[in-house]
Amino acid sequence: MIKYCKKCLFPNTKPDLFFDKNGICDSCNSANIKHGLADNETDKNINWETRKKELSNFINKKLDNNKSDYDCVVPVSGGKDSTWQVYVAKNILNLKVLAVTFDQFDQTKTGIHNLKILQEIGVDHFHITINPLVIKKLVKKGLEIIGDPYWVNHVGMFTVPINIASKFSVPIILYGENPQFEYGGPAESRSKMIMDRRWRQEFSGMRGLREEDMVDEEIELSDLTLLKYPDDTILKKSNISSVFLGYFMKWDPIKHTTFVKKLGWKSLEMPPAGSWSHDENCDMEFIDIRERIKFLKYGYGRATDQLNIAIRMNEMSRAQALSIVKKIDGKIDKKNIEKFSKFLGLSKEELVSIINSFVNYSIFKKNEHNEFVEIIERY
Ligand SMILES: [Zn+2]
Repeated sequence: MIKYCKKCLFPNTKPDLFFDKNGICDSCNSANIKHGLADNETDKNINWETRKKELSNFINKKLDNNKSDYDCVVPVSGGKDSTWQVYVAKNILNLKVLAVTFDQFDQTKTGIHNLKILQEIGVDHFHITINPLVIKKLVKKGLEIIGDPYWVNHVGMFTVPINIASKFSVPIILYGENPQFEYGGPAESRSKMIMDRRWRQEFSGMRGLREEDMVDEEIELSDLTLLKYPDDTILKKSNISSVFLGYFMKWDPIKHTTFVKKLGWKSLEMPPAGSWSHDENCDMEFIDIRERIKFLKYGYGRATDQLNIAIRMNEMSRAQALSIVKKIDGKIDKKNIEKFSKFLGLSKEELVSIINSFVNYSIFKKNEHNEFVEIIERY
């Protein structure tokens, strides 16, 4: 039966989320140890001064004998966090930065504007556009097989930068937050500093689908060159390490947003359907469709993710947040159904039928208007 965290609004149906004996999820417990509020023996508060020193030692060690013209690759989507990472890498850590963007298939006008902010920071910047015809097929397969049209984006974001780093022998890749620490995951993965092949396979949103599984009569392995994770032998030789900056520095999305806005970074005029925040997913036109499927699978959507952060920062009560998510979670923009079905070469009915095929009948039932409604009202 579906149960909810006593502090935030995450349900126990969320993949990789664990609850302690008091009914608190590990995403809430992570927030406590991050902010120095943990009061039990298993969860020790993080000493951010020590972590800062760890970062400096790590960088010094990696850059000893660095023969590349660059010190680090920073994967950039154009979101508030990755823009902030580029600034920190260049101006706080004094690194020679190569920014790398895996161009998303549904980039928005706001997203394109925000990527230009990097020109203000002043770094070399690669945009990698993988054959859009191949990407379209991968978007469709991700949607049909695991219910995630952004499968290819997860692969691109966690694979293209390492392939570029490998070509230019850049020793460090700086990712942002560790999603298992911020949003919940097994204990071992929550305290992880390194992003490696195993992490990518288990936690990056690939959901068990590997790039080679996508090969069929229409897609060849050679179409996926930049989406293939490099061989271990190549990685060992090149001595590249991908790390989460969020392990070393306290992750604060609100601070990042305030900071990048001073550089000209823009929020969305309106949150996307199904979302609460103006500042998140500014570069993903079809985020509402992905989140609708997540809602049907697990009983929560994007607004829950966003409002949980507000609850943990004591900006909103759980009850207030609950009344908002009940109205927003899982909502979809009808125009996007039309646009996205056209993009995929499907009829609207075919797309809706794929979306609805992921419904979890232990959470939802159909009402008299043929709509999915929760069997037990969220609490
Ligand atoms: Zn929680």
